[in-house]
This record gives sequence, C-alpha cells and structure tokens, in this order.
Amino acid sequence: MIITIASGKGGTGKTFVAVNLAVSLFSYEQSGEIQPLTFLDCDVEAPNAALFLQPKIYRKKNVEQYFPLIDFETCTGCGKCAQVCQYHAMAIINQKAFVFKDICHACGSCGLICPEQAIHDTPDKVGIVERGSVRGMEFANGMLDIGKLSPVPVIQELKKWMQGALQGEGTVIIDAPPGASCPVVESMRGADFVLLVTEPTPFGLHDLKAAVIIAKDELNLPVGVVINRDGIGDTGVKEYCQSNKIPILLKIPFDRKIAEIYSGGKILVEIIPEYKIEFQNLFIKIQRVMKRQQAFSNEEDSYS
Ligand code: SF4
Ligand code: SF4
Repeated sequence: MIITIASGKGGTGKTFVAVNLAVSLFSYEQSGEIQPLTFLDCDVEAPNAALFLQPKIYRKKNVEQYFPLIDFETCTGCGKCAQVCQYHAMAIINQKAFVFKDICHACGSCGLICPEQAIHDTPDKVGIVERGSVRGMEFANGMLDIGKLSPVPVIQELKKWMQGALQGEGTVIIDAPPGASCPVVESMRGADFVLLVTEPTPFGLHDLKAAVIIAKDELNLPVGVVINRDGIGDTGVKEYCQSNKIPILLKIPFDRKIAEIYSGGKILVEIIPEYKIEFQNLFIKIQRVMKRQQAFSNEEDSYS
C-alpha cells in the first residue's frame, strides 16, 4: 500500500506525521502485523525526514535532464521547433532558434520535429537521489540542485529507483512536497491513499481545499485528514471535512511539549510512546477508509 502524505500548506507538520507514522508502523511490523516498510522523501526542495530518521545512506546517484542544444550552423530558422513547443520555451531570434532553458520541460518535441537535425540533447545535472536504510526500513530521498527550477524530474527518478518497493507487497510512505502544483501531483500519482495534514486555521483550510481538489477530484484517490495543532484557530476545517465527507483520522493537540520534541529533531512516538498507538490506529483507520471506498466502487460498478 502506498500512502502519500501531503499538506497543501507548508509548515503544517507533514513530515512530522510521515516520520511518526513510519516509526510506529515499523514496530507494528516487528510484531508481524504488516509487510516491509519503505520511506520516500519526495519533498526534494527541502528534504528533512533524514534529519529525524538518521538513515545510513549506501547509494547516491545524479539525476540528469536532457535539454535541447541548437547547432546554429545547421539551424535555418524555420520556426517549427517554436511552433511545436507547448511551454513557449523556444523562440526564433535573428533567424536562429533560441531555448529558454528555465522554462523548458525537456519533452524532446522540438528535436523530433526539426527538419535539419539541428537540435541535440545535452544532459544537465538537476539533482541527486540517495537510498539507504534505517531501523530496518528502506529509506530514499532526493535533492534538487540549487538554481534548478523543476523538482519533478528528481521525484520521477526517485520513484523509478524505488519501483521495486512501490510495486511490492509492503507499505510505502511518501512525504510529498507542500503546495498544490506538479511536484505534489507527481508525489500522489500511483498512491493508494492520500493523507492530508492541515492546521485548523483559515490558511490551513484554504490550502487543504486545493490539495483535496488534486487528490480526490483530479486523481480520484481516497483521502483522509490529520489536524495538527488542534485547539488553535477555528472550526472551519472540521466543518469543511464534515460537509464534504472527508474523514478526520487523527487530531494532534497544540502542545508545547510536542513542539519542543519536533524542533529538537526528535521523534514524538519514541519520546511519548502513547502516541505510537495513536499512529498505529491511524494506519488501521486508513485501511478501513480504503476498504469502504473499494466496497462503494464495487457497488457502483454493479449498477452501471
Ligand atoms: S526546427 Fe530546427 S531548423 Fe527550424 S528553427 Fe528550429 S532548430 Fe532551427
Ligand atoms: S524540449 Fe520540449 S519544452 Fe523544451 S524547448 Fe523543446 S519542445 Fe519546448
């Protein structure tokens, strides 16, 4: 089962939930309840799960993206490459093709259409991926190089590298980037369940709604919510979840001790073991929601 943990808004405690769920599940696994566990930190612009989990890294590799390089000697300035580019990353200047590398999505269409074979792919390093293990679970993360714009190729490479775990029998926890754009979609794609971590404030609600649109409406995935810092703000998140039939699976109270544990780089369930049960129950609730959704889809199929 692949569980992507996302948030919409940054700073809601997404990594905190992902790490505590993973550590709680690993001890659950040791008691023979669940299959092997893998943790993927797909927040490649600011990967920080490793700060908490302290994995032993045993492999690293570069992530490269292929950008078009124009051979000005051969280019006739016909403009076909600029016409085919969906991202407006190619222009004709002084009768020669020019690539705006920062907005190029490296799709390769321009190279395919060029009648003069004047476009050649050149590799450019955009980041790295790392893999290792910790507490008996597999761990992998990615890092986007400074100055590179799109995290998507790094996330795709990370998922490709961990294909075995993603297609296997075990549980994979994916820590997604914050926001509601392409990197988040890439982190949710292929998941079985999306757990959205929010805080009970108007900002939290606003960004939760954006994340729900991606996960539930666009990708048609089952979702559940964790409310972190419960007790601050207002009741907007709870009312929204209730009226949209989105289950709230865990509420973590606003508590100075929890904040101190987190800011000290420690893992809550290891310091206050009662929370381990809470996170194990969270996993059980996720399984229940998935079963209910499956039963509902089967029922719908039988009527269609
Ligand atoms: S399609 Fe090829 S020849 Fe035409 S402008 Fe682009 S690079 Fe030059
Ligand atoms: S590779 Fe794709 S996105 Fe980049 S310039 Fe060519 S057509 Fe545009």
